[in-house]
Amino acid sequence: MHELALSQGIVTMIEEQAAAQGFTRVRTVRLVIGALSHVEPEALAFGFDAVSRGTLAEGAALEIERPPGQAWCLACERAVEVAERFDPCPTCGGHQMVLTGGDEMRVKELEVE
Ligand SMILES: [Zn+2]
Repeated sequence: MHELALSQGIVTMIEEQAAAQGFTRVRTVRLVIGALSHVEPEALAFGFDAVSRGTLAEGAALEIERPPGQAWCLACERAVEVAERFDPCPTCGGHQMVLTGGDEMRVKELEVE
């Protein structure tokens, strides 16, 4: 399961941060998961719950931001929002699209104590 590996990566990152910064508990983990990133927020939350057990991230709340997919339409010469990676332009229906955002997956912030 893709999300389980991601959750493991997040917990590892938190442990590294804890070692570097000296915090002992994580209250909230703020994540950015783009709509085009192929990560299911619910599966990620479930995986995080499982892999964080027994670590300093156990019981931390996950707050997930879900920015929409963004693309630049070469025909319209403007930025548009897309729901899927290969969707046509919502304005002109064309496919000359360059994906510009919405496929990121990163930890934005940790709230620690
Ligand atoms: Zn267009």
